[in-house]
Amino acid sequence: MPVSSGVAHAAVHVVRDHFDEPEETTIGPQEVETELARFRAAIESTRCEIEELKRIIEKESSEGSGNGEIFETHLLILEDASLLNQVERRVRTELVNVDAAYYGLMTKHMVALRGLSDPYLRERYLDIKDVRKRMMRHLRGEHRAETTFEHEVIIVAHDLTPSDTVQLDRSKVLGFAIETGSANSHAAIIAKSLGLPAVVRLHGICDVLHSGDSVLLDGHEGLMILNPTADTLARYRIREEQAERQEDMFLSRRHEPATTRDGKTIRIGANGEFLEELDIIKDSGAEEVGLFRTEFLYLENPEATEQMLAEAYTEIVWGLAPRLVVFRTLDLGGDKLDPLLAEEPEPNPFLGWRGIRVSLGRREFFKRQLRALLRAGAHGRVGVMFPMVSGVEEVRQSRELLLQCGEELRAQGVPVADEVEVGAMIEIPSAAMIADLIAGDVDFFSIGTNDLIQYSLAVDRVNERVADLYQPTHPALIRLIAHVMNASHEKGVPVGICGEMAADVALTPLLVGLGLDELSVAAGQVARVKHAVRLLDAAECKSLVRQARALSTAAEILELSRGHAMERYPELFA
Ligand code: PEP
Ligand code: MG
Repeated sequence: MPVSSGVAHAAVHVVRDHFDEPEETTIGPQEVETELARFRAAIESTRCEIEELKRIIEKESSEGSGNGEIFETHLLILEDASLLNQVERRVRTELVNVDAAYYGLMTKHMVALRGLSDPYLRERYLDIKDVRKRMMRHLRGEHRAETTFEHEVIIVAHDLTPSDTVQLDRSKVLGFAIETGSANSHAAIIAKSLGLPAVVRLHGICDVLHSGDSVLLDGHEGLMILNPTADTLARYRIREEQAERQEDMFLSRRHEPATTRDGKTIRIGANGEFLEELDIIKDSGAEEVGLFRTEFLYLENPEATEQMLAEAYTEIVWGLAPRLVVFRTLDLGGDKLDPLLAEEPEPNPFLGWRGIRVSLGRREFFKRQLRALLRAGAHGRVGVMFPMVSGVEEVRQSRELLLQCGEELRAQGVPVADEVEVGAMIEIPSAAMIADLIAGDVDFFSIGTNDLIQYSLAVDRVNERVADLYQPTHPALIRLIAHVMNASHEKGVPVGICGEMAADVALTPLLVGLGLDELSVAAGQVARVKHAVRLLDAAECKSLVRQARALSTAAEILELSRGHAMERYPELFA
């Protein structure tokens, strides 16, 4: 499945799961329950992972091939009661940390099996090793060490979490090829932001490929070609040249505003994550940064001081001046695991301690970021927006802290922004439903459709199994967005969209018709979206939305919008 367009040709680097042997430490008696809870959570995550693999293998191999049996064995090993009891006993009675207790026992069993003469049983040691590897990864919150490369590479991995991505030497990365994943995972979003091709759901590639293999990655079609021939490379070169010529058509007007044929101007912003994107954003034609995801700078250096953060944010503000930069305060949790949070894995992280909940739960930590943002605001136009808002109190408390930080800094004589615009993300249905109540406390809203879709439809945005149900044009979504638009516009609060939906030109007629004031998209999509807006008529789009609201399925609404889009700008679908 292609998730970010473009073509790359390079050697692959296969990211393998690895871990160091855990050190045995003594824990305090009061830590026993937390340690065991962490153990149970890791078992649960490992179980889900194995079941998912089993399902994929069974689906892909012919019926009755028994290919899923190996994972049955892994589940039996994972859930073996006597093993689990032994681990628990060691933790409780000997006060040994759970990583070492589990690792030690599994290793003992592996060694015992390896010494057996029966070849079948001897082979089973590999199964124990596999389960041990998965468990250790979950116990450690999937944290991997920094990876650097000598040459340009295409990254091949089973899965790639945002924390893995920040640990890569991105200056050498030309593309991503992932076994699992979805278009809305943060790994895919990062690939789009960096303008790199990415293909997900390439099941089995980690077993087939080895670091150094030469491949061609096609992010348009969702293909990976091993050892491409000279003919194939030549064919791709011609295709790329054609695509570039076509892009020139709308790239030439990228710095002009996006105004519909009947005169409605929609601000087109870019989303950003890393300092190295500043030039790409500046050149993209973006009029502002509608969403700067600050988590990635944080994950690169969780220990950064207020001074270091203020310097990084100032570099962004300066680099993009005179554009407004809307920084989103940390949205840790979900698939963006913080090493600190990872110590206490949650069974359901997307519904857990995430976004503004983490920030408000660690006030000094939150204030460090707010103070740094206010300091950066002294050097250019800064907006601050809060993620994962579920109700009015979170916005008021956050705003209150922001005010407090401003006063403290001024009292210390530190230059701060005279004014920052404050916004809330609408990502949770409760916030969408009470947009009118939140409107009094904010200057703007930004709808995070990536999450609003997952929370409204109860569809995990990174779970392949339910990817078909992840439908941006579900009638419930259209109603929710329409509700937010009416409620906010009545109170004079502008609304943007910064989720991936904003960049889908098949949906631009709907979004224009719904009355969005701003669309913030990956830098590489800015020129395309501007081109689409210019060829639409806002009044016509409004009546299209009226028609859409009478339709009852996501497919019908998508068809209606796409049909209109293809009539207006067929060149974007070529
Ligand atoms: C969203 O949810 O749409 C959004 C923009 O935030 P993120 O993708 O970082 O969760
Ligand atoms: Mg979100």
